[in-house]
Amino acid sequence: MKKHNFSAGPSILPRTVIENTSKAVLDLNGSGLSVMEISHRGKDFQAVMDETVALFKEILNVPDGYEVLFLHGGASMNFCMVPYNLLQRKAAYLETGTWAKKAIKEAKKLGDVDIVASSADKNFSYIPKSFDIPSDADYFHITTNNTIFGTELHEDLDSPVPMVADMSSDICSRPVDISKYGIIYGGAQKNLGAAGVGFVIIRKDILGKVDRDIPSMLDYSIHIENGSMFNTPPCLAVFTVGETLKWLKELGGVGEMQKINQGKAGMLYDVIDNSKMFIGTAEKTSRSFMNVCFVMREDYKDLEADFLSFATSRGMVGIKGHRSVGGFRASIYNALPVESVQALIDVMKEFEAARER
Ligand SMILES: *Cc1c(COP(=O)(O)O)cnc(C)c1O
Repeated sequence: MKKHNFSAGPSILPRTVIENTSKAVLDLNGSGLSVMEISHRGKDFQAVMDETVALFKEILNVPDGYEVLFLHGGASMNFCMVPYNLLQRKAAYLETGTWAKKAIKEAKKLGDVDIVASSADKNFSYIPKSFDIPSDADYFHITTNNTIFGTELHEDLDSPVPMVADMSSDICSRPVDISKYGIIYGGAQKNLGAAGVGFVIIRKDILGKVDRDIPSMLDYSIHIENGSMFNTPPCLAVFTVGETLKWLKELGGVGEMQKINQGKAGMLYDVIDNSKMFIGTAEKTSRSFMNVCFVMREDYKDLEADFLSFATSRGMVGIKGHRSVGGFRASIYNALPVESVQALIDVMKEFEAARER
């Protein structure tokens, strides 16, 4: 049976990425060697790294003055790298979910943290709209897409201090005005490629302003100087990122991707909003185009387990909601085809029609 992969992360990859990666695992570009067994400093892998960095810059329209890194450690490593590199006295954070809280926890180890606004009062079901960013903060940190709670910041904010964004789960899902950010980082395993690598886009001139002695592996400047090869990079994972970016470029880039994503999310939210059985958990204006969270309405709560097994029997994978929200979460990242969204909708409608009360 065909599987429809709604997993939150690691998540679905474009079929061509999987096919091209499996070829490169056997033989990288006719070199006679696997991408897994060549030197990261040899010309074959250097070409992969260079092309991946160049494509990422091209697709996201990264302006001059910014560097792109691909590093081990995923998004979570950046939770501590950001304060290590930028936090001298005080940082400002927007608290919009589990990942934001984890980032805050690391920053508090190195300085004062000013939480400018939080949506904890309503279980992170919305993005706070009005708040002041203190102009004496060293930086302002946001999580643009809250993977667990299904909320998303749909615009690039203006900030009086360098803005740092965790874009793990919405990178390349829409055009972004990079010039508004000091750092954008994330893990690759949602929208960009296989697990094992993280990306960082960083404006160079915000570095070098803290007094502390930064451990080399946590120092962005050292990784920049070494072109993401201060230590051995996760070569295979970097390869998958390059392949995903080629796929995205071929498809028309992030502008085109945004239209497709809005279409997919619109289809699913429409069904949820018109259902007697299901209800969305996020406030409408804060809804994510990447992670669609929904539960059964009160009258139908007892059917959640039934729906999960019904959907699973029809090939739906990964739709169980995170325990902090419950119900269901359909992650509909870039690579998830519209056919899979339609398949989920069909399953929801069929289930509801048979059990309407
Ligand atoms: C998945 C996720 C993370 C964690 O990523 P790792 O690469 O596992 O560290 C952090 N932030 C957000 C928004 C995520 O979706």
